Amino acid sequence: ATHLVWLRNDLRINDNYALHAACRDNKATVIALYVATPGQWQDHDMAPKQAAFIAKSLHLLQQSLAERGIALHYQQCDRYDDAVETVKTFCQQQKVDAFFYNYQYAINERERDAAVERALNALNITCQGFDDGLLLPPGSVQSGSNGMYKVFTPFSKAFVRRLHQELPECVPAPAARDGAPLTTLHRLTPFDYPQEAFDETLFPPGEQGGLARLREFCQQPVVQYQDRRNFPVLDGTSRLSVHLATGTLSPRQCLHRLLKHHPDALDDGKSFIWLNELIWREFYTHLMVAWPMLCKHQPFIGWTRKVQWQENNALLTAWQQGQTGYPIVDAAMRQMNALGWMHNRLRMITASFLVKDLLIDWRTGERYFMRQLIDGDYAANNGGWQWAASTGTDSAPYFRIFNPTTQGERFDKDGEFIRRWLPELKDVPDSDIHSPQQWAEKNHKKLDYPQPIVEHKDARKKTLDAFEAARNAS
Ligand code: FAD
Repeated sequence: ATHLVWLRNDLRINDNYALHAACRDNKATVIALYVATPGQWQDHDMAPKQAAFIAKSLHLLQQSLAERGIALHYQQCDRYDDAVETVKTFCQQQKVDAFFYNYQYAINERERDAAVERALNALNITCQGFDDGLLLPPGSVQSGSNGMYKVFTPFSKAFVRRLHQELPECVPAPAARDGAPLTTLHRLTPFDYPQEAFDETLFPPGEQGGLARLREFCQQPVVQYQDRRNFPVLDGTSRLSVHLATGTLSPRQCLHRLLKHHPDALDDGKSFIWLNELIWREFYTHLMVAWPMLCKHQPFIGWTRKVQWQENNALLTAWQQGQTGYPIVDAAMRQMNALGWMHNRLRMITASFLVKDLLIDWRTGERYFMRQLIDGDYAANNGGWQWAASTGTDSAPYFRIFNPTTQGERFDKDGEFIRRWLPELKDVPDSDIHSPQQWAEKNHKKLDYPQPIVEHKDARKKTLDAFEAARNAS
């Protein structure tokens, strides 16, 4: 028999449910397939840095699979619709008997997979899908009577109760099959999507890169996570998001590694705080499955559809380029533009600034983030933006508006992070780093740095008015 594993955002051999299931029958020939869909990726705003990370990880994966006697094939077509035909033809050519894949949860992906299953069932190929990219399947953590939770804290509590009852198991990498290792590899080209180099020290590609970072993080830094995670100048977070987004690492591997070093992680120990972030990831994906409108650019809170956003290209460009005149916002945007990654606290500050200081539609920012982020993940990005824009479930209330200057003072007190990304402010003393224009004026200095593009106090008022008008109109 021939078993095919269709790999997508599960680019690993360890703890991969579909791959594991495909290999269970020792006698079967197991092959794997990756299908690039550049047209669809363009529509989904995949960042060129993420594409480069995937391309590198795919090469590494191909080698690991070959060592185990599993050939990774590569196909390219434009869109998901075409992928249905591509997969079907490939299965016919290879005389596939059974087809294995791990679910993806956004709407286009689900529709594509349903179409693939229909096409393969018509050819008498059995299909098996797996909930692999999450700790617990969507829909499995619900409140007694009301279905999916809309608020995070009770969701998280129920989630942990479920984990206490039973932990999701990790499965091992497949053993070497007959004929291993393979010596000839299929070409993984054309990978016809713009790619951009990324910092491989910060984001070592492939599952070995992810596993090494996970081990290191769970040994020590995770204990200090609670105290350090809000300060962007500290290397206080795991930087594992790209691995979770592309599936070079599974959340189960994160959970079990955490519990190995910190057996109290489920019991509100210090390391629970990090686990809780992984549960945020679950929350946003479970929400997206329960409310597919979230995949269609819709806000969770209906009346916020009526907010009159401002179209202003000059302001948008200043925000994108890190030229707003608010140092913490600008340093953050330049970090993202350079690295394809931004610290979580800064994602909150910059998103809030776009929406609540510039009154620009959150979807514009969501899209810009997606195009830059190496860790771009639809559910997490949408959830983060709707949180910041006060349009989401359990989001910041609309009248809570970050003051970008005081946020900077709180989370980058001495301006060390700011100076790292804004060299033009290197001579500004610590005490003035959050209002460098005032310092320059007082001291008759010339700075190569813009004046604030909006006055926060006025902008705040304008935004409150816009949200209140929308609410009253509903
Ligand atoms: P850690 O602090 O070490 O957290 C561990 C893991 O938990 C992360 O790798 C991530 O997988 C998950 N996680 C942490 N915080 C969140 C969160 N708030 N929501 C969902 N998952 C979370 N995360 C993405 O993975 N992709 C995105 O496209 C994305 N866009 C965002 C946009 C906005 C506006 C905001 C406010 C947040 C966004 N996040 C996104 C969430 C978060 O900022 C990143 O996951 C985190 O900064 C990644 O760094 P880390 O791996 O060091 O995180």
